[in-house]
Amino acid sequence: MVFSFERKVSLRMKFIADVMLGKLARYLRILGYDTLYSSQMDEEELIRNAIAQKRMLLTRRTKIKRREDIKDILFITQDNPKKQLREVCERLHLMPVAGSLFTRCLSCNEILVDMSKDKVEGKVPEHILNAHDSFSFCPHCNRLYWPGTHHERMLQQTKNQARNIL
Ligand SMILES: [Zn+2]
Repeated sequence: MVFSFERKVSLRMKFIADVMLGKLARYLRILGYDTLYSSQMDEEELIRNAIAQKRMLLTRRTKIKRREDIKDILFITQDNPKKQLREVCERLHLMPVAGSLFTRCLSCNEILVDMSKDKVEGKVPEHILNAHDSFSFCPHCNRLYWPGTHHERMLQQTKNQARNIL
């Protein structure tokens, strides 16, 4: 297994996370990173997708770590998802970019599309419609996003995390 710490990594970096790293995958999506994750993917599928789609494989499994047919692999040592995010950012020198935060669907990884307020009408409770001006939706799963409390808290946490990393 070869891993170069000198490699230049940007938001163009793409990931694939093993079944044990669902929360880490969501954190990376919050930062805007294209991160493939499915609880259904077995080891062979993970490796196949990582190679075919040029994704950095994130894994907690020592068995996968030992495989020699894949080079772009990062073995995650931490148990806690926030620490895992920090581990990935530190080891790959990722620089979270404010404009990339919350640009992806947290549940299916699609890039979110802006949705005007009038189109959101009827799809969210009235008080949410009245309280926010910006909405976005996922063209894949149709999930709607707005800067609600949960969103803001996660954004703040992620920003703090990014600040700690940098
Ligand atoms: Zn989605």
